[in-house]
Amino acid sequence: MPKEIQQAEATRCSRRRTCCLLVYGCQMNISDAERMEGQLKSIGYERIDSMEDADLILINTCCVRETAEDKVYGKIGEIKQLKRRNPELIFGITGCMAQKEGEALIKRAPHIDFVLGTNKVHELTKIVRQLEITREHVVDVMLGETELPDDVPVARGSGFSAWVPIMYGCNNFCSYCIVPYVRGRERSRRPEDVLSEVEEAVQQGYKEITLLGQNVNSYGKDHRQADFAELLARVDQVKGIRRVRFMTSHPKDLSDRVIAVMKSGEHLCEHIHLPVQYGSNRILKAMNRVYTVETYRDLVRRIRENIPQVSLTTDLIVGFPGETDTDFRETLDFLKEIRFDAAYTFIYSKRSGTPAAKMEQQVDEELKRARLQALMEVQNAVSLEINHALKDSVVEIMVEGPSKTDPSVYTGRTRTNKIVLFPHTDEKAGDFARIRITQPQTWVLKGERVSG
Ligand code: SF4
Repeated sequence: MPKEIQQAEATRCSRRRTCCLLVYGCQMNISDAERMEGQLKSIGYERIDSMEDADLILINTCCVRETAEDKVYGKIGEIKQLKRRNPELIFGITGCMAQKEGEALIKRAPHIDFVLGTNKVHELTKIVRQLEITREHVVDVMLGETELPDDVPVARGSGFSAWVPIMYGCNNFCSYCIVPYVRGRERSRRPEDVLSEVEEAVQQGYKEITLLGQNVNSYGKDHRQADFAELLARVDQVKGIRRVRFMTSHPKDLSDRVIAVMKSGEHLCEHIHLPVQYGSNRILKAMNRVYTVETYRDLVRRIRENIPQVSLTTDLIVGFPGETDTDFRETLDFLKEIRFDAAYTFIYSKRSGTPAAKMEQQVDEELKRARLQALMEVQNAVSLEINHALKDSVVEIMVEGPSKTDPSVYTGRTRTNKIVLFPHTDEKAGDFARIRITQPQTWVLKGERVSG
């Protein structure tokens, strides 16, 4: 072993080192960060919350919306001061912004030591070790490689619910979305790799598994070793598993086979997040979503016929270029008709490099905000009505822990993914409990423990 590496190894063993991870964006990013933290732990780093006391700071970034990017640039500025005080500090950027900007990030902020793309999660250990020895900038953002972060340690953020990625990337190219450009084409993990990660998590005591992907319903289209329906059925049968969830589903790919597996599966939770994005065919076409309101409506009908207790949630974007009052009214009507349990609503954010960014008739910001407000009012009324129907019913929840605002109140989640608040007695995170719903609200259900 060369002398400088021996010295670095000796220094590594002689003191405790700490890392601070700042994670932005979607669940896929959180899952990637768990794999990054696992790798850092394996080479002796302990995660802490304070940037000031860390030996290594990592920002796992998101670029889906402009506001997310702005937050990251703000943090990069703050870290410049820390780096000045402690030149030994290692500072890296990973995730979607790293992929999109690459070397430009280091040109703009030379105090960044490394930039690691979305396909390079598994290389973190190697890069950090290299930087501990030589402080030369590293940029590694090549896309299109088939290697997946299968064999890396995972430091899961929760003790009862585990995220398991089943595929990476997306082939859909919705016209507003940057994801296919920064995460590359779809690559599915082998079914045996997914299953062994699920089995290991269950053996470690995880009760709930969420299978993750940008579009889980196209799982296996690349390797053809199993499709999503088959994978879901096999995960449902893992010994000791209590709950299985998945996200996200593209409406064009959710098949009748998946619905049938959900219907017969014992541990498959009755919840589907099914982003509709908009409620008029004209805008859906401009978004390149490849389905119509009619086919979406028919899919919802088939889901509800087969899984009557299912809860459906969705994502919606307002202010897409060219949106008219008529399009918007159609969307409000569609929301009232479909009656989602909840909707996550967003204002369209222009992302350079996407086709929608070049479209004419961008919608005025004030109008976007007014439409968002109107949309939320309609949806909130629907959510409240649906939740009111649960008053006095008894639901099974998995306990998640104390509420952030009041530690005497605990939160849990139903199989249908509704959040339940209840007065704490002796429950622990990961326990299952039966709760009578006494006060249904728009976003949460309040209740009390019942025995049995
Ligand atoms: S399905 Fe569309 S919105 Fe979802 S990640 Fe792929 S391109 Fe983006």
